Amino acid sequence: MRGCSFTYSSIASSRLEEKRAGRSLLCRKGQSGVSVVSNLRFIVDNNVGKLAKWLRMMGYNTLFFNGGDDADMIGTALAEGRVILTRDTRIVKRRAVTSGQLKVILIASDEPERQMHQVINALDLDCQFQPFTICLECNQPLEGREREQVKDLIPPYVFQTQSQFVQCPSCHRIYWRGTHWQAMTKKLKEV
Ligand SMILES: [Zn+2]
Repeated sequence: MRGCSFTYSSIASSRLEEKRAGRSLLCRKGQSGVSVVSNLRFIVDNNVGKLAKWLRMMGYNTLFFNGGDDADMIGTALAEGRVILTRDTRIVKRRAVTSGQLKVILIASDEPERQMHQVINALDLDCQFQPFTICLECNQPLEGREREQVKDLIPPYVFQTQSQFVQCPSCHRIYWRGTHWQAMTKKLKEV
């Protein structure tokens, strides 16, 4: 069983339930400046693969497209209403894109932090992200766990120092507050 040095930030229970219901919610600033809920979902091409973890970190349902036929990625994006993130200029010439059926962000930089910056700007995302609602590895909604439930699955010092945990029902990774998470959220805030 692998544990991860990540945190579970405090999430209102109703919010968490909405997440569990499969909706990836995120606050966006509307024109009035009032936060409105967005249910953006993404599919990340393998040429910008690092974006998948960052977006999941922010609480977005994000699929990773591991190569293969472009048509498959486009088909999935259309069927599931996902925004495509890619560096492949051929994708933006596809009819589904030129006709406006499908939104694609053509990523300019090969540097992950600049890539995130571009995505946040392009979609006007408010950085009120929801860490630890989605597994960084397999995109499954995370579930809350009591400290005692994970006692045997985590290092003793983590059991002693942490009180909040979440677990992925698919890969069984456990997440808690840790230095890696702090570094990631700091970077996101900077972006
Ligand atoms: Zn997982």
